[in-house]
Amino acid sequence: MKIDPDLKLQILEKVGIYSSRFSIPEPHVLLTTREVLEMPKEITTGRRTSAHKYYGVSYLQHNLVFINVKKIPDEKTLENTIVHELIHMRFPYLSHGKRFNKLVRRGLHGKTFPSYQKRK
Ligand SMILES: [Zn+2]
Repeated sequence: MKIDPDLKLQILEKVGIYSSRFSIPEPHVLLTTREVLEMPKEITTGRRTSAHKYYGVSYLQHNLVFINVKKIPDEKTLENTIVHELIHMRFPYLSHGKRFNKLVRRGLHGKTFPSYQKRK
């Protein structure tokens, strides 16, 4: 997709909405590979020059998310990518798989999750 100020605003709004539904602090959002490369190396280490290959990348330790708008083909994939990355932030111990995908689907359908810290 082509990034413009409207799309940027739309993405940040969605990130805000889903962050509050998932009870996570709103992450800082990067929208271009250029922004990823401009971040200090210690933050993006491991997913820096390879970031362009993915629709999205979470830098969990730093509450930072990269949404690769340029690579994302359509609005549906965009929404999916946002939710995918935020599910990583809400469920940091969970790796990709059936359970992860189920949580993404639930998130897309408007499910709210209580905060991670509050759970025992
Ligand atoms: Zn992932």
